[in-house]
Amino acid sequence: MFSCQFCKRLYRALEGPCCRHCWHALPLPIKRCTQCGHALGEHRCCFKSSRIISCATAFNFEEPIRGLIHSLKRHLDTASGELLCRAFVDRVQQIPDNAVLVAVPSHPLRRLIRGYCPTQWLAENIAKKLALPYTNGRVKKIRYTKSQKRLTQIERQVQTSPFKWVSTDTSRPVILFDDVITSGQTILNMVQSAPNDLQIYVWAIARTSEYRYTDTH
Ligand SMILES: [Zn+2]
Ligand SMILES: [Zn+2]
Repeated sequence: MFSCQFCKRLYRALEGPCCRHCWHALPLPIKRCTQCGHALGEHRCCFKSSRIISCATAFNFEEPIRGLIHSLKRHLDTASGELLCRAFVDRVQQIPDNAVLVAVPSHPLRRLIRGYCPTQWLAENIAKKLALPYTNGRVKKIRYTKSQKRLTQIERQVQTSPFKWVSTDTSRPVILFDDVITSGQTILNMVQSAPNDLQIYVWAIARTSEYRYTDTH
């Protein structure tokens, strides 16, 4: 038996990453846009005209998922991180054949300030659970950027990509992984500087339904 991280009740491990009651209370839309991971319905599809083959996200960026992500990012609360990974793995339906998982990298300075890169921590953990190959050296963040939230939509679109692909290997598809997708601009910046023939899929734990979330890499 395990203690549910949300309600502390005991539950059987086979039920999933938390007790059934709390699992059903998680923000899980049934249908999502396969192109950008947004809950289906009217939305501005941020990856529509990009090279991204598909995007899978597990949750809406709402409580308690929001709280778990904040605990991991701000306080390196690995118990919250572990729960997020188990919940994500439970929700993944399709794994692209032969793919390699690549996390959105932090700038080395940001990594130094924080002491670690939460997105890489999550990606590594998820890769291990799914027995997927994981690599963190393929793409680097070479420019320190302000938070996307403080940029206007125009500024976001005209800035050149702060990412640089170190590897030109296109032999296997990659799954770009981020914890939260907001405007989609971070992923689009990575895609913009990726090798031309690279097949690209996107995974994220959560998707915001509006554009207010501040993210920093
Ligand atoms: Zn519970
Ligand atoms: Zn969409």
